[in-house]
Amino acid sequence: MSFAQFKVIGTGEYFYYENANHALFNSDGDRLNFEFDSEKMSLPTSSLGKSKNPKTIKIVLGHACNYSCGYCVQKDIGNANERAKNANTQVFIQRLKQNINVSGLERVELWGGETLLYWPDIIEIMGQLDRVGLTWYIPTNGTTLMNKHVDFFASLKGKVTIGISHDGPGHVLLRGPEFLHKKIDVLKNLQKAGVQFSFNPVISLYNYDLFALNDFFANFLKENGLAPVNLVFELGRVYDKTLSKNSYSHIIHGEHIQKYSDILKRYLKRHKDELRSTGENKLLRTNLFHFGNGALPYAVTLKQQRPVSFRSNCGVDLDDLISFDINGNVRTCQNTGNGHLQGTVDALEKIQLKGVNLTKDGFCENCSVSRLCKSSCPIDLSFDVFHLNHLIEKAHYTEIQLSAFELMFNSVVELVEENVSIHSRPQAAPVNDFQQSPIAPT
Ligand code: SF4
Ligand code: SF4
Repeated sequence: MSFAQFKVIGTGEYFYYENANHALFNSDGDRLNFEFDSEKMSLPTSSLGKSKNPKTIKIVLGHACNYSCGYCVQKDIGNANERAKNANTQVFIQRLKQNINVSGLERVELWGGETLLYWPDIIEIMGQLDRVGLTWYIPTNGTTLMNKHVDFFASLKGKVTIGISHDGPGHVLLRGPEFLHKKIDVLKNLQKAGVQFSFNPVISLYNYDLFALNDFFANFLKENGLAPVNLVFELGRVYDKTLSKNSYSHIIHGEHIQKYSDILKRYLKRHKDELRSTGENKLLRTNLFHFGNGALPYAVTLKQQRPVSFRSNCGVDLDDLISFDINGNVRTCQNTGNGHLQGTVDALEKIQLKGVNLTKDGFCENCSVSRLCKSSCPIDLSFDVFHLNHLIEKAHYTEIQLSAFELMFNSVVELVEENVSIHSRPQAAPVNDFQQSPIAPT
């Protein structure tokens, strides 16, 4: 249990955030949450094993890609042609059906490489597992997206969502030739068919101006008669154990961390100011503020004392989330290669994930943003690599946490100090007069 002290600038009051129970206290040690219920705080727990009743599965179809993005470790081939149908796909589906309860699945993600290069396999898998209530997720670099895909997705019973990896103003530098202007009719058809898509940029050293990213996509959508879509940002991290020059040159580090924090602070403030605005030209909705690990959901979980687990953000340590490759191997996650094979679909009961370090050897224990960051990537990277990721994660999530507190206290809030002591009285009656006209996020 560790407390961090914050100051509400508007009133001069101090409050404390305690990371183990995700709770707020005043200076007297009284809990600030109105309806704290410790039962509700029982957390989904991490697991190194895998269940035969998964809710989510991710299927890695292969690592072929037609692009060569600067920070991607899967630089395989550059051949833009669809791959022939994999002879293993049918066998894999049968093994899947024999070994897991496919009727209990809520979400199936299909991953590459460039996922749509595996279209014959996608048709096979979707055709066999599709049903009402299932959500499909397909990440793509977008260059391969065609109307034949839209027509097929529209014919399915499940809901299809597509994440288009595109870096906006940094795209040509970081990923490759611009192509969005060639895809306007396909994107329109996706929206007409009710297939949701988002743009998913990576926040990296060369591309962290969130306003420029927003404007790029907002202008593209507006100028081409497309409805607004969500921006799903991915914070660029290093996953390469060797801390190679390529990895290091893409993660925000050094003096850029403060510059990025300043931009993120302004970006989150603008979202907060726009919450109740009905005006035009609002920023696109984003996972940094509106959903996912953003400020608004974080404020809601604090206010309503909803459980927020310590498990990883990507879910590799959930027993009901499993990543498979098309050969039936369980992998740590969709981004890992053959060094992270953990067992097979036929013997899920034997799986005990190896090569992960969920606690980071206690490094994160006193961190005030541990409920947001959740100790970064669960893979057991070298300390130097982990620490490099930690520095940008800390800056990133601190701004999101401050933005959440500002929503709750309706004032600018600043972090005073981490790892301080107070005499908490967790059983005391809730205090109702502390909160300063909170926005009461719903
Ligand atoms: S373990 Fe999670 S965070 Fe790490 S590379 Fe895999 S999906 Fe990404
Ligand atoms: S990696 Fe850093 S920012 Fe993330 S929880 Fe650990 S200490 Fe906090």
